[in-house]
Amino acid sequence: MFLKNKPMWGKRTKLKSSYDVVIIGGGLHSLATAYYLAKDYGITDIAILEKNYIGFGGAGRNTAIVRANQRTQYNVPLYKEALDLWPVLTKELDYNLMFNNCGNLNLMHSEAAMKAARMNICTAQFHGVESHLIDAKEAKELVPALNISEDITFPIHGAMFHPPGGIVRHDAVVWGLAKGAAKKGVEIHQQTEALDITTKNGKVESVKTNMGTIQTKQVMISAGGYSAALINSMLGIRLPISVLTIQAMVTQPLKPILDHVVSSGAYHCYANQTLKGEIATGAHMDPWPNYTTLNTAYYIKHQAEALSEFLPALRGLKFMRIWGGLADMTPDMAPIMDGNDQVEGFFMDCGWGYFGFKSCSAVGKYMAEFIAKNECPDILKPFNLKRYQDHKLMGETAALVNYSPDN
Ligand SMILES: Cc1cc2nc3c(=O)[nH]c(=O)nc-3n(C[C@H](O)[C@H](O)[C@H](O)COP(=O)(O)OP(=O)(O)OC[C@H]3O[C@@H](n4cnc5c(N)ncnc54)[C@H](O)[C@@H]3O)c2cc1C
Repeated sequence: MFLKNKPMWGKRTKLKSSYDVVIIGGGLHSLATAYYLAKDYGITDIAILEKNYIGFGGAGRNTAIVRANQRTQYNVPLYKEALDLWPVLTKELDYNLMFNNCGNLNLMHSEAAMKAARMNICTAQFHGVESHLIDAKEAKELVPALNISEDITFPIHGAMFHPPGGIVRHDAVVWGLAKGAAKKGVEIHQQTEALDITTKNGKVESVKTNMGTIQTKQVMISAGGYSAALINSMLGIRLPISVLTIQAMVTQPLKPILDHVVSSGAYHCYANQTLKGEIATGAHMDPWPNYTTLNTAYYIKHQAEALSEFLPALRGLKFMRIWGGLADMTPDMAPIMDGNDQVEGFFMDCGWGYFGFKSCSAVGKYMAEFIAKNECPDILKPFNLKRYQDHKLMGETAALVNYSPDN
C-alpha cells in the first residue's frame, strides 16, 4: 500500500512556476530528450507535461519493431545509431528493454521490387548497416512457415533481410527512460495539459497549462499525433502533416513458429511472435485523416486474409486483442525536427508516422544537443521544416510504396 499514488519512476512533485526547459507530451521522444538533456548536458530543471499518462500515445501502442534499413542517406545513419543504442540504454538505464535482434525480413513480390530493394541495400551497406537481398528459397529457409508457392495473390520473389533489426519492449522503453530521467532530476507531470505557449518579441516566454502558467525560455513539442494541431493553434505554424489511425492486433499465444519480423508491402501486413507467443500483426492504416483510435471490421478481415496467404500455418487462429493509435504522416514519410527558426526557444520533433519508436533513442540524444547548444546538430539538419517550402522532400515514401512495411 505504500506504493499508493507513487509513480514507479520517482516521487510526485508540484508543478513549479518556472523551468529551464518544458517538454510537451509524455511520449518516447520527450522522455528520451529529457533523459539526454540531463545526462549529457547536466540540464535537469525540466518539466515533461503529459495530459494523460506517459505512454498514452504511440509510445504504448506501437508494435515495437526496430530496424535501420530505411531508404535515404539522411535517414539510415540516424536509425542505425538508434538501433545501436538499445543495448547501451539497457545498461545505462539499468532496465531490461528486452531488445530481441531477431532480424527483419521484408518480402518482395515482383522483380521491380527486388530491383528497388537493391538500391536500399546499397545505401544501407554504404552506411554500415547489415542488409542483404535473398531469394524466395532462402527466405523460406529462414522462415519455414512462409508460403512461397505461386498460387497466392502476391507470390514471393525474395526478401530484404536485415539481421540486426527486431523488437524492443515498448512499455519498458517508456518506464526505463522515465526512471532514468527522473533519477537525474527531471519532473514528469501527468494529467497536465499544455494549453498555450506565449511569446514576446519572437521568443518563448511561458507555457499555459491546466495546472497553471510556467515561465520558460525553451519549449519542445513532441506530442505524436497531436503535435501538428498544437503547433498550429499555439504558434500559428502550419505543418504538412496528416493524422491517420493505425491499427494492430495480437492472436492467441502459439508455440514458437516465427523467429523473425516478417513484413510485406504488397499485402500491407507484418507479423512477429512476441515473447509470450502471440503473433503481433499490423500495418494497416485507415486512409482518411482522423483523430480516433477506433478499430474496424475491415482491418480485421484484411489482416486475416493477408496472413492466411503468406503464413498459412496461422489460419484459424483467434485474434485476442486489437487497438489503434495515431500516426502523424508527412508527405515524404520523414519527420520534422526543427527549432529556433520560427520562434526563438521553440523546438519541434514530430511527423514520425510509423517510425517514431525505432528512432526515439538517437533522436532524443540529438534533440537534447539541439536544445542544450541552441544549434542544430548536422545529422538533424536535413529534417527541417523549410525543406517542404524548398521542394527538397526526402525519398522515404519510395521505401514504403515499393516494398517496405509500414512499421
Ligand atoms: C498501432 C501502431 C503501431 C506502430 N508500430 C510501430 C513500430 O513497430 N515501430 C515504430 O518505430 N513505430 C511504430 N509506431 C509509431 C510510433 O508509435 C510513434 O511514431 C511514436 O510513438 C511517436 O512518439 P512521440 O514521442 O512523438 O509521441 P507519442 O508516443 O504519441 O506521445 C505523445 C504524447 O503527447 C501527449 N499530449 C498530446 N497533447 C498534449 C498536450 N496538449 N499537453 C500535454 N501532453 C499532450 C499525448 O497524451 C501522448 O502521450 C506505431 C504506431 C501505432 C499507432
